[in-house]
Amino acid sequence: MRLALTLAVLCGLAAPAAAADLSTQVRAWRAAHEAQVVGQLADFAAIPSVAADPAGLQAQADRLQDELKRRGFDARQLSAGAGAPPVVFGALAIPRARRTVVFYAHYDGQPVTPSQWRSDPFKPVMRQGLSGPDVDWRGAKPPYDPEWRLFGRAASDDKSPIVAFLAAFDALQASGRRPSVNLKVVWEGEEERNSPHLETILKQNQALLAADLWLIGDGPLHQSRTRTIYFGARGNAGLEATLYGPLRALHSGHYGNWAPNPAALAAQLITDLRDPQGRIRIPGFADDVRAVTAAERQAIAGLPPVDEALRRELAFGRAESDEGLTLSTMRPALNVTALRAGDAGRAIPAEAMVSFDFRLVPDETPERVQAKTEAYLAGLGWTVVHTDPDAAVRLASAKLVKLDWTGGYPALRSDMTTPAARAVVAAASRAGGGPVAVLPMMGGSVPIHLFADIFQVPVIGLPIVNHDNNQHAANENARLQNLWDGIETYAGLMADLSW
Ligand SMILES: [Zn+2]
Repeated sequence: MRLALTLAVLCGLAAPAAAADLSTQVRAWRAAHEAQVVGQLADFAAIPSVAADPAGLQAQADRLQDELKRRGFDARQLSAGAGAPPVVFGALAIPRARRTVVFYAHYDGQPVTPSQWRSDPFKPVMRQGLSGPDVDWRGAKPPYDPEWRLFGRAASDDKSPIVAFLAAFDALQASGRRPSVNLKVVWEGEEERNSPHLETILKQNQALLAADLWLIGDGPLHQSRTRTIYFGARGNAGLEATLYGPLRALHSGHYGNWAPNPAALAAQLITDLRDPQGRIRIPGFADDVRAVTAAERQAIAGLPPVDEALRRELAFGRAESDEGLTLSTMRPALNVTALRAGDAGRAIPAEAMVSFDFRLVPDETPERVQAKTEAYLAGLGWTVVHTDPDAAVRLASAKLVKLDWTGGYPALRSDMTTPAARAVVAAASRAGGGPVAVLPMMGGSVPIHLFADIFQVPVIGLPIVNHDNNQHAANENARLQNLWDGIETYAGLMADLSW
């Protein structure tokens, strides 16, 4: 917070009284339009814009294009062909504006497992808090309880920032305020699939997408619920490992102690790769890791403390590392996200599978992570294959593992001291009436390295949704107070940003 405050003071947090007026005006507009704003979020969340439903993705893209057109934007859909969901693009030139800002978000959501949800993921339901009873919000008279949450896939990740952008724009129009920057939006439809076509689309439309700054609406706020700016995001690389036992499952009494057990091999693989503190055991893995700067360390030290409260809320006795939540996410991580073996019958299974998830930091690349991992495992006596092994390979290998690498992209941590960075922190602080939490890098992954690599301009995260939104899991939800604050933040960034 110290750094946030310093930056904010440097940039004149208290200076323009106009900023306070702006927030008041935006708040008044929102108070008069709560039903409309929540209705739009509920409408969007009801559209099944997930990878398994191409028609749902297209319906959401069409709807967003219409919303932009109706507001006077030059709106179109940018496609990479091959049936990939389009990027919804919009641009609005503002007379006399010197700078152009792109607002990025994504309209696709994670896949759903409906049986894990309390209600249909695509029939949004309002509830009191995270686990309270359903609320008939359509029958209620605003103002709504700001602790209400709308449950539905993508309600938070990442449709809330899109709704906040549209509402903030409407609020500005209603107040007669003109944006201070030219506005562009890039709303992607494949983020939850690792954005396989985004790079192509960005490169094919470089002139159209030219800007001085990218603002990224994806991701949650800091766990303290303080308004948050982030300056990067971890990258990722997915890894599915398959371990092999006997060709078919065997009676655990007749064959136990003799037939190799793939579930036990899975456990060995995990402990070969990471220690009990979560540190990655691969030699040289840290060679590519860029050191955390003094300014970044200072920003982290200034964040409101949340670790102890979170640990109690989540009921675990000990954190994996002792360095604290945020500092630990500045390192690469190797997570075990799924383990599958056997069917609880008393048999030695034929196969086991482990899903790993690497989270990368600058300056690692997925390619080097893959190479180092495989060389290390081979050195430990593992036979590494990439296709289903035949009987000959199985017979010849004592410790056999098939590795399937999925997607992946590098991290980004951008300079927190550029004029644009200072201006964003100052504008967000003014919009919120106080200092914001400044994160050097978000733990989660967003492919923002692409924007920095291709356009060579600052890329800064402007998340708005609650940290406890069950992102990527069942019962995803968006807390109304976050949406309200997000509208004010977005309005501030549109109307009160200059450098
Ligand atoms: Zn997201």
